[in-house]
Amino acid sequence: MLRVGLTGGIGSGKSTIARLLVERGAVVVDADKLAREVLEPGTEGLAEVVKAFGEDVLHEDGTLDRAALAAKAFATEEARQTLNGITHPRIGALTGQRMAEAPEDAVVVHDIPLLVERDMAAVYHLVIVVFADSDTRLGRLVGSRGMDRQDAEKRIAAQATDEQRRAVADVWLDNSGEVPDVTALWDRLVAFEKNVRTQSYASGAP
Ligand code: ATP
Repeated sequence: MLRVGLTGGIGSGKSTIARLLVERGAVVVDADKLAREVLEPGTEGLAEVVKAFGEDVLHEDGTLDRAALAAKAFATEEARQTLNGITHPRIGALTGQRMAEAPEDAVVVHDIPLLVERDMAAVYHLVIVVFADSDTRLGRLVGSRGMDRQDAEKRIAAQATDEQRRAVADVWLDNSGEVPDVTALWDRLVAFEKNVRTQSYASGAP
């Protein structure tokens, strides 16, 4: 199994690239999706959130009111840490579980927007950074997603910089223009996976 970290700024095109890699045969583990899963109705995670932040972070039907939670959790650093203390370990455990479920010869792509911010580069065999310049990203977020311009600017500014991402990138995919062809990248990932598997057999490592 090859563990690949896929990251990039908001609106850079991570999901677009992840989709292309899935078409080739990759198994994708989507960090944003798992973050939602750990707070679904009936989960221990959601129960903990309600205990910490109160019943008014729920909609009437018992699902999480994300805007209400965000208003409370991002009000102070302590509240943010409380929320992270509930969600991060659960997301981590679920990520490990999903990776372990993948076939032993899989190329597993972890789509994780905050790879750099969380200092996660070392857990992957290879890190792919999807890049698009900030004007292009703003255009996509405001244009195709209908996000408020100021909100989009704020979110871009709150994330890691391109330089920080460049420092951990093994592969730098420029998605500022046409969506790049991933054929050569996919072949490289498959070859790398084979190499990792053969070497771990040779060394007796699990
Ligand atoms: P987020 O961080 O918000 O999850 P993302 O990095 O996963 O975003 P995508 O959802 O893949 O980004 O792309 C953002 C938007 O830009 C989408 O509407 C997508 O269709 C569009 N897009 C992606 N790549 C390109 C491209 N090369 N040219 C034009 N539009 C693109």
